[in-house]
Amino acid sequence: AKEAGRNGFAFYDPEMEAETRTRRQLEQDLRRAEERGELQLLYQPQAEVASGRIRGFEALLRWRHPERGMIPPDLFVPLAEASGAIMPIGAWVLRQACAEAAAWPRPLDIAVNISPVQILHGDLVALVTETLRETGLDPARLELEVTEGVLIRDGAQALGVLTRLKALGVRVAMDDFGTGYSSLSTLRAFPFDKIKVDRSFVRDLDTSPEAAAIVRAVLGLGRGLGLPVIAEGVETEAQRQALAAIDCAAIQGYLIGRPAPIGSFGTALGRLG
Ligand code: C2E
Ligand code: CA
Ligand code: CA
Ligand code: CA
Repeated sequence: AKEAGRNGFAFYDPEMEAETRTRRQLEQDLRRAEERGELQLLYQPQAEVASGRIRGFEALLRWRHPERGMIPPDLFVPLAEASGAIMPIGAWVLRQACAEAAAWPRPLDIAVNISPVQILHGDLVALVTETLRETGLDPARLELEVTEGVLIRDGAQALGVLTRLKALGVRVAMDDFGTGYSSLSTLRAFPFDKIKVDRSFVRDLDTSPEAAAIVRAVLGLGRGLGLPVIAEGVETEAQRQALAAIDCAAIQGYLIGRPAPIGSFGTALGRLG
């Protein structure tokens, strides 16, 4: 088979063919998911470590496919990025999250994930400007979560976008901190307002001195740079206590709350009951 391959023959591989077909079908379905009402935002609380008080929510996208059921974002967001569908979907996410947050009785923060594709290819600044105007959300309540990949790929373009976004009064958080290739230089080169320590470090916090040392170092980094740090993926009380012991002020994770429809957080939002 290798011999033939080198000579340029294409082989029929039923498995690969089926995969490609599924992928194309999903990409097509995704393009119409928004207008069909299949997209939904869940919200996950972000809390103060000491008091447990909820300070804001991260919006997390869900796709309820009519035949396949719930498809996780780790699977469909990359498809949407490849096909370009992430542009209308990302716009929908931002508008939906801002509109909902603007209606909350208490002015808690709202964090929205932004795809690299939105930063490099669309007019994200115009989208955010327009969305803030339409929804009336106070820009100081909006935080955009960005991973470092895009920043490295096209630093000049990304820096321009982030700088103009900040001029609107919104904040920018560095997501998944510590998992990229150059988290430190990225942090220095771009005007972030917050660091989100990746879940992989938090997971081993109470059992591994090394993981704890790394999280402690990130907290020190945040203090030195004047940036708040939030730890992601906090699942256990032991992890929470380990974070409190090293003065991590903010946490997010299943311990505080799983991503859920905003209605289930009525009390935190200042609604009765
Ligand atoms: P992320 O931005 O790092 O989001 C955190 C992920 O960790 C979420 O997965 C969340 O449900 C999960 N998580 C939170 N707390 C815990 C915990 O205590 N334990 C564990 N094991 N997991 C926890 P989710 O919702 O499946 O989202 C996965 C990724 O998909 C996100 O990672 C983000 O990169 C992307 N994503 C989600 N929503 C959007 C969106 O609206 N736009 C874009 N561009 N990407 C999105
Ligand atoms: Ca995020
Ligand atoms: Ca993250
Ligand atoms: Ca992630």
